[in-house]
Amino acid sequence: MNREDVLNLLTLPAEDLKSKASYLCKAYYSSQVYLRHIIEVSNICQKNCFYCGLRRDNLSVKRYRIPISEVLSLVEQSYQMGCRSIVIQSGERTDKAFIDYIAKLIEEIKKRFPDENIVLSCGEQKKKTYKLWRELGADRYLLRIEISNSKLYEKFHPKDKLHDYYKRQECLLILRDLGYQVGTGTLIGLPETTIEDLAEDILFFINLDIDMLGFGPYVPQANTPLYNNLSNYDPTKALDWTLRAIAVCRILMPTINIASTTALDALRHGARLEGFEWGANVLMPTLTPQPFRKDYQIYSKKGELRSDYCIRALQDRIVLCDPGDPLHYLLRQNQ
Ligand code: SF4
Repeated sequence: MNREDVLNLLTLPAEDLKSKASYLCKAYYSSQVYLRHIIEVSNICQKNCFYCGLRRDNLSVKRYRIPISEVLSLVEQSYQMGCRSIVIQSGERTDKAFIDYIAKLIEEIKKRFPDENIVLSCGEQKKKTYKLWRELGADRYLLRIEISNSKLYEKFHPKDKLHDYYKRQECLLILRDLGYQVGTGTLIGLPETTIEDLAEDILFFINLDIDMLGFGPYVPQANTPLYNNLSNYDPTKALDWTLRAIAVCRILMPTINIASTTALDALRHGARLEGFEWGANVLMPTLTPQPFRKDYQIYSKKGELRSDYCIRALQDRIVLCDPGDPLHYLLRQNQ
């Protein structure tokens, strides 16, 4: 598989792409959809990514960290709804207080709900931190590379030690070595990026042999440096490419889990539901309560988007009381 092969798939007529991806979803996952609730436990972030509303220098954000007891009540609520996979997401922090907070959460969740699958999405950490969290019971880790091309990565991040492309890439390898189910993804349709860049992203995922994917189309957010430089941004293209990328990834990596992400709905209501016709098999509704939800604005409108319509429309496909491990992970365990 090379860039031309991926490009040929990405540019197929939409109906061809959808039907190939749907066929494989049915063959490998019986068209089932797995549910994971996301709890955005804190919006405090030490980083300054140019595209993100939670960046450190955005002083208009009211910062929060949800108390552990409140997070546990939300996990219980999710468990009672039949969900067996919970995503603990936050801005990136590497200080001891934060590491201990996540460690305590993992311990308490596993104590109360031993069959709950814990998915962390807490950014780049030292190996010893990933190891600690894994040993306490974390099962999966989501760390989006955001941009797989190192030169482009530099363009959309400050040039300093906190934003090192190679360190981020190394984190993905460490997570895999530690036995996590590993997920990644990119921001699709950033200004001045091309479909060739998207093809390279897909090759990156294949080479990394990842278990899970979560793509997001780029959605501009005010109070970010990129917001002032959107001359070459095309939301229609970002949306179309994201759906196409879901389908191509399903075709090329049929056993992985692929999420249809909330950001799709920020560009067009209903697009997240469409993602399930293009090969996605994971829905991740946000369980973060107000008033915290409105303060987790990675991108514009995020706090207002609802998942209920997807749950209603997919109710015959959603599997409950099942952690929904990616087949890809189960297969590589047996290798
Ligand atoms: S993308 Fe992640 S690491 Fe970057 S500023 Fe936003 S929350 Fe922080």
